[in-house]
Amino acid sequence: MDLVQAALAGERRALARLLSLIEDDGPEARQALAALHPHTGRAHIVGVTGAPGTGKSTLVNELAKVLRDQGHTVGVVAVDPTSPFSGGALLGDRVRMRDLAGDPGIFIRSMATRGSLGGLARATADVVRVLDAVGFEWVLVETVGVGQAEVDVARTAHTVVVVEAPGLGDDVQALKAGLLEIADILVVNKADRPGAAQTALALETTLDLGQNRPHDPHAWRPPVLQTVALNGRGVDDVVKAILDHRAYLRESGLWDRRERERARADLMRALEERLVARLLYHTGEEALEHWVDRIVAREIDVYGAAERLTEGFP
Ligand code: GDP
Repeated sequence: MDLVQAALAGERRALARLLSLIEDDGPEARQALAALHPHTGRAHIVGVTGAPGTGKSTLVNELAKVLRDQGHTVGVVAVDPTSPFSGGALLGDRVRMRDLAGDPGIFIRSMATRGSLGGLARATADVVRVLDAVGFEWVLVETVGVGQAEVDVARTAHTVVVVEAPGLGDDVQALKAGLLEIADILVVNKADRPGAAQTALALETTLDLGQNRPHDPHAWRPPVLQTVALNGRGVDDVVKAILDHRAYLRESGLWDRRERERARADLMRALEERLVARLLYHTGEEALEHWVDRIVAREIDVYGAAERLTEGFP
């Protein structure tokens, strides 16, 4: 496929068009992904998540700048499950565009809701694959930590950075949202504001309690770092922590294990989609509606209906 070859050769317009194709899904997207697959598996994927307003986009911008300064290429995928817009224009007026525009070593893509959260998660994973395949060494995936979305992103990422900020309320937001369990690195951003030290301490204390983590001296303990993304203070340390985490993953064998887990989860998802599609082709969509009617009429329960629908299906 010409588009794939052009994108692999580093043509940005081809890459942008390829990503649109991938986002729209369909048979051509599948073909492109198949052609790209052998080129994937080299990028380090970093998920950055946290409550709205904690400074995620500002921080991701700064992380990208530090990585660029170190000579790395960086892809950024900004996922906003609450926004109906997509395709990159959304970020046009954002600060990072002014700082990073025109740099061929960086590529920024924003994604928004398409039908369902599940659809968005899959589209995001596919976009990350493309950026990986065309050679970006780092892919930063920024997402709002508001529900299932960030858990899906965590599954895609090698390293998850959870961003917190002081003064968003009495509680530490990350604890409330259950983000601590998926964090490899905790960042208290807006450290220029009062309360940052207390927030960092609250996070450290919770980590010390360690309820959520196995008591293994070799286990990774998420560092708690303070940053001022507005002026870049502390961002170097976040990059250093990401590099440490990457080394830890590689040395402990976790990298390979996560790679397999991810492949298995992706395969299961693809299988589910395919099998359901085949089943419905086999039985006809009306059959589904027929069983829905019966469930609603309290004639049969969901499990019974599922059993009947799959009867005799190979
Ligand atoms: P997001 O919603 O988590 O992506 O947050 P943004 O990056 O859009 O930042 C939200 C607001 O906080 C913006 O007005 C930023 O300029 C501001 N902000 C980001 N980082 C800092 C920081 O370190 N200190 C202060 N005081 N403000 C910040």
